[in-house]
Amino acid sequence: MIIQLKKGISENDKASLVERINQLKYKTTEVNTQKGDYIIGIGKKEFDIRDIGFMPGIADIHRVSDDYKLVSKKWKVKNTEIDLGDGVVISEGGMSIMAGPCSIEGEDQIKKTIDHLVENNVKIMRGGVFKPRSSPYSFRGMGIDGLKTWYTEARKAGIKIITEVMQVSQIEEMHDYIDIYQVGARNTQNFNLLDELGKIDKPVLIKRGISGTIDELLYSAEYVFSAGNENLMLCERGIRTYEKASRNTMDINAISILKEKTHLPVIADPSHGIGIRDHVEPVALACIMAGADGIIYETHEKPEEAFSDGQQTLNFRESAKLIDKMRKVFELKRSL
Ligand code: PEP
Ligand code: MN
Repeated sequence: MIIQLKKGISENDKASLVERINQLKYKTTEVNTQKGDYIIGIGKKEFDIRDIGFMPGIADIHRVSDDYKLVSKKWKVKNTEIDLGDGVVISEGGMSIMAGPCSIEGEDQIKKTIDHLVENNVKIMRGGVFKPRSSPYSFRGMGIDGLKTWYTEARKAGIKIITEVMQVSQIEEMHDYIDIYQVGARNTQNFNLLDELGKIDKPVLIKRGISGTIDELLYSAEYVFSAGNENLMLCERGIRTYEKASRNTMDINAISILKEKTHLPVIADPSHGIGIRDHVEPVALACIMAGADGIIYETHEKPEEAFSDGQQTLNFRESAKLIDKMRKVFELKRSL
């Protein structure tokens, strides 16, 4: 059960409400976010919601049968929109494109990528400065100094930044230089990190765990929301299966299922999803048809020289072609 509280509900009214819900044998958690105040009631007993509906300070009550509550679609009339400012909004109404290298490598690469994005009217740049690498001997990112250089160049060009945060201590140092925190597939169930991201005022994109289920991804999002941050999106990035012909198996099913289960924007990452350059385009287009609200993918001026993930990275010519096709497919989908 989700109880939406009225703005400015008195502490007394809140206490009486909690007491009444507890009498019904429901456990309560109070959630306060940038957008609203809620009480989550967890319990099994059937009761008539009019039993509490009359109490002062309540804006609305919803029964949500899913085990995750706040991220469920069952209570929210409108899907979540993420407003990054300057007219950049991630929502169902538009198809957001986030493109850039796997890793930020230096000023020259940053500038060339930004030029490519500006030429193609892409507003959000991806790139890692803290890189989770399977081997400790691989390039592990330029760190906070790389992020600062990137931020300076991106702001000059009106480009927003999404980058991965790997641990709690990085949240604060990154805060002023980014627009979206990305939680990587290896950190989807780092609950301490999720809790802390619930306390900040910037949007968060959570990737699906490498072997994570759709429900587990939704629970991860529930952590961030219930800790206070409802500026959230989810990202399907492929899962590990027995298939060896591709790096991961892009679970296009998940996109359609997530769109049914949650009001949060659903983003698809075909680069990590299939992991092979030549197949990124068809998979990206399929994800749009399946309902993705945005696509995040890797591009680099010279993929063969990229510090990481070159094998799945598009060059700028391929990237421009993809952008054009994605926009066409999105328009087609809208017209159906
Ligand atoms: C990335 O986007 O650079 C990345 C490391 O992705 P994932 O966490 O999905 O592996
Ligand atoms: Mn990568």
